[in-house]
Amino acid sequence: MSPLILDAHLDLALNAIEWNRDLTRPLAEIRQREAHLRDKPDRGRGTVCLPEMRRARIGVCVATQLARLEHAAYSPVFGWRSPAQAWAMTQAQLAWYRAMEEAGEMVAIRDAAALEAHSARWQAADDATAAQLPIGYIRSLEGADSLVTLAHLERAVADGLRAIGPAHYGPGVYAQGTSTEGPFPARGIELLRVADELGLILDVTHLSDACFRQAMTLYRGPIWASHHNARALVPHQRQLADDQFRALVERGAVVGVALDAWMIVPGWERGKTTPQSADLRLEHLVAHIDRYCQIAGNARHVGIGSDLDGAFGTEQVPQEVQSIADLPRLPDLLRARGYAEVDIEGVMHGNFMRFLRKALK
Ligand SMILES: [Zn+2]
Repeated sequence: MSPLILDAHLDLALNAIEWNRDLTRPLAEIRQREAHLRDKPDRGRGTVCLPEMRRARIGVCVATQLARLEHAAYSPVFGWRSPAQAWAMTQAQLAWYRAMEEAGEMVAIRDAAALEAHSARWQAADDATAAQLPIGYIRSLEGADSLVTLAHLERAVADGLRAIGPAHYGPGVYAQGTSTEGPFPARGIELLRVADELGLILDVTHLSDACFRQAMTLYRGPIWASHHNARALVPHQRQLADDQFRALVERGAVVGVALDAWMIVPGWERGKTTPQSADLRLEHLVAHIDRYCQIAGNARHVGIGSDLDGAFGTEQVPQEVQSIADLPRLPDLLRARGYAEVDIEGVMHGNFMRFLRKALK
């Protein structure tokens, strides 16, 4: 039986609401039903659904709400035209999570006790039992554009939000994100202060280098990087530099490695390079895990934040990954690199579990 997996970054509600995928259905059916669509590059090539997550033994995940604002100067991905629209979209996503809870498909995890009880259920389950279990999720807001005011953040936390990443792609309302530079605006500093008071986990993924530095100084609460690969292996501002990783280790952070191809190997051209032409394999992702472990001097600060179906599908992931249920191939690759069983369990779930036990107290 493969170890329990904690996936620290999945855009499940975005897939359900914006991609119109019924994630309770089998993967083949989801693909088939959208095979004729051309509105998004990953149509018909999804890898994530709830049954496949259970097959992978992903008993716990961090699931996002995500709605960006359109920015005239920088729009590599879709954005809404007003904060009210973005907020409304995150509320539709929340309503979908609630519907999944009511259907017994998922269960919201808000505190350490619930995390402990839920993961114990999964640990004890054989594959047949696991196929019937709800998937536990900790809710995180990716990009804060949708917060019309900071009172909306308080409402979200009252509703069970437990983590926040202030930035996404491009300039944001509260922070500078991927491919932009510069520090937090005043309202971003205020966001950090309120998030700190509310006891949220701060996700530094997507922050500009200047914002990253500021966040590390200003934020006193728990910090992680939910889906973030190593800049030393693929040079790009979206990636985590060695000194940034070192600073995170000092704070007791855990960093999740992501399966988006361009973040795994250098020179990837979206829409041109294919997993086959690049001979992209999970082994290349293991190199990022190993990089982090070598820097930390141990295997206690790395986990999985797959980001699978985060606006890309099988056209942009390692060749062996036809489904999220292929993540259990990772332990063998880590074994081949000489990782001990205890370290492998740490990477697959134990490190994020340790972090969350403390952060959700
Ligand atoms: Zn992201």
